[in-house]
Amino acid sequence: MASKTIHMKYYPWLVNPYKIIIKQHQTKKTHHAFLIKTIKGLGVCELILKISKWLLCNQKNGIKYCKKCHSCQLMLCGNHPDWHQCIKNKDDIITIDHIRKINEKIFKYPNQGKNKIIFLSNIQKMTESAKNALLKTLEEPPKKTWFFLIDYNNLRVNSTLHSRCLIYTLFPPLEKKSLNWLKNQNLSNKILNLISLRINQGSPISAKKFINNGLLEERKNLFLYFLKSIKNQNLLRMLPILSVKNTILKIDWICLLLFDAIQLYFNQKKKLTNFDQFELIQFFSSNYHYLTLHQSIYTWTKCRYRLLNVPGINSELLLLEQLLKWEKILSFVI
Ligand SMILES: [Zn+2]
Repeated sequence: MASKTIHMKYYPWLVNPYKIIIKQHQTKKTHHAFLIKTIKGLGVCELILKISKWLLCNQKNGIKYCKKCHSCQLMLCGNHPDWHQCIKNKDDIITIDHIRKINEKIFKYPNQGKNKIIFLSNIQKMTESAKNALLKTLEEPPKKTWFFLIDYNNLRVNSTLHSRCLIYTLFPPLEKKSLNWLKNQNLSNKILNLISLRINQGSPISAKKFINNGLLEERKNLFLYFLKSIKNQNLLRMLPILSVKNTILKIDWICLLLFDAIQLYFNQKKKLTNFDQFELIQFFSSNYHYLTLHQSIYTWTKCRYRLLNVPGINSELLLLEQLLKWEKILSFVI
C-alpha cells in the first residue's frame, strides 16, 4: 500500500529503507548528519529526494508527504529554497567554495523553525579542504538542518567524516527480487539477467543499463576472443578488442572471470558470476594454482589503475605490456 502512495514502484527495494529512515525522524532517533554507504545503481539519490520531500512537507500524513502543499510543489519543480544540493552531478568535485555557500545559507538566514536539507551526493568527490570545512559545520549546525551524505566507496576505512555521522548501509536487494524487477522491465532472459546482476554487484538498475547499452554483447565478444587467444597461447590477439573501447570495463570482466576461476579452484561453484563461460573458468582453475590467478588479477588491477590515473599514458602500449606480462605469468612463453 505504502509503496503506491510514495511512488516507488520502480525501485521497490527503497520502500523499506524509506520507512526505516522516516521512522527514525518520527521517533527523533536520528542524527543531523546522515551518511548512506552504498553502491552505484540502487537509486539512493531518489531515496534522499523522497525523504527530503517528507521532511519539508507542511502537511505530512504519517510516513507520506502530501504532494499538494506549497513545499511539495516547490520540491516538485526542483527549486525549494531550503533544499540544497551541492552539485548537480555526482561525479563533480565538491570544493571548499561549495561548503562556504552552504554555510552562508544555513547560518545567515534563520529558517523560522523549518527544516533545511543539505545533500552531498558523493563524499569521495570532496577535496580535503572541503571535508575539513564540512567537519567544522557538522560540529555545531543550526537546529533542524539535516545533512545527507553518500559514500559509494565501501572499501575505504572510515574517516573522521564517518565518525561524525550516523551511518546507514543501503544493500542491493536479494537476487530473487532483483530478477523479478528486471523481468518487469521487459528483460525476459533470466540467465542473462542473472549474469548482468552479478557483474554489477547486484545492482538492478546497473544490470538493466548493462543489458540495454549492449554491454552484454560486448562481453560475449570479448570472451570469444579470449577463449581463442588462450587456445592459441597468444594473448596479443586480444589487444584490438581490449583497446577499441570500454577498456576499463573489459579489464573488470577479465578480473571477475579470474575470481570465478579462484572460486572454482576451491570448489565453490554456486555463486559464479560468469557461469555462462565455464570453459574459460575451468581452463584457469584446472591449469593454474590460485596464487597465479591472484597474481594475474593483481597485474590487471595495476594496469587498470595506471590507465585511469597516469595522465597522457599510451594505453595501447600499456595493454600490450600487460598482455606480454600475463603470457609470462601463465607460462605461455618461457
Ligand atoms: Zn506537502
